[in-house]
Amino acid sequence: MRVTFDLESETGVRRYAEFIDRAADLVVSYGGSLSGEHGDGQSRAALLPKMFGPELVAAFAKFKHAWDPDNKLNPHKVVDAYLPTENLRLGADYRPLKPQTHFQFPDDDGSLANATLRCIGLGACRKSEGGTMCPSYMATREEEHSTRGRAHLLFELLQGEVLRDGWKDEHVKKSLDLCLACKACKSECPANVDVATYKAEFLSHYYESKRRPLRAHAFGKIDRWAATCIRSARYCEFFQSCHGRATPA
Ligand code: SF4
Repeated sequence: MRVTFDLESETGVRRYAEFIDRAADLVVSYGGSLSGEHGDGQSRAALLPKMFGPELVAAFAKFKHAWDPDNKLNPHKVVDAYLPTENLRLGADYRPLKPQTHFQFPDDDGSLANATLRCIGLGACRKSEGGTMCPSYMATREEEHSTRGRAHLLFELLQGEVLRDGWKDEHVKKSLDLCLACKACKSECPANVDVATYKAEFLSHYYESKRRPLRAHAFGKIDRWAATCIRSARYCEFFQSCHGRATPA
């Protein structure tokens, strides 16, 4: 079961905290586990005393202190844990930029920011064989060249905190440069992240104040080149036919 919470308002975050606290009590009352593969590090670590009891959790702390007296290794994970609502990706202060866009993003309430939130970090784009997504990651094995890396960089661009150059940001440009715009992610990613569309949106703004490379003109204006070639071919034909008539005389 996946429950959706409003993690963009104080009330929503408070409700989320209350919900998981009560859910944890319920799970423990049935002898269940609060986490399976994930969650012990931070998102549910503060709830572990409910499951293991204070004595065992105190023993965790003692054990960690014995090996890491200066608390340098993963501080505030499992032991002395952050609250589940600390360090949320969104949070009540989530206010992404809302630039005008050429694409409508109809499945994301018309918002590029919402579109970048489609990526939930699953990492299906980081596979090395099978399927098509993501060819650039398969070649470089760099996170910035994966669908997830690109979606996160665009998320950061719209946050404007770490990446501050907006549409002119070179980190985002560099990451998108190797995107083949093959659209494999749109069909193969479980969240249908569509980086090819986001790339087109980004580049259209990036080049508002810069010269496009020649190859962009070569491919982007292929219809005009084709029309010019047809006109030239007709002109040549006409010229040849005139010349052909003139020669025998
Ligand atoms: S469109 Fe870009 S990000 Fe998506 S799978 Fe293709 S190369 Fe990767």
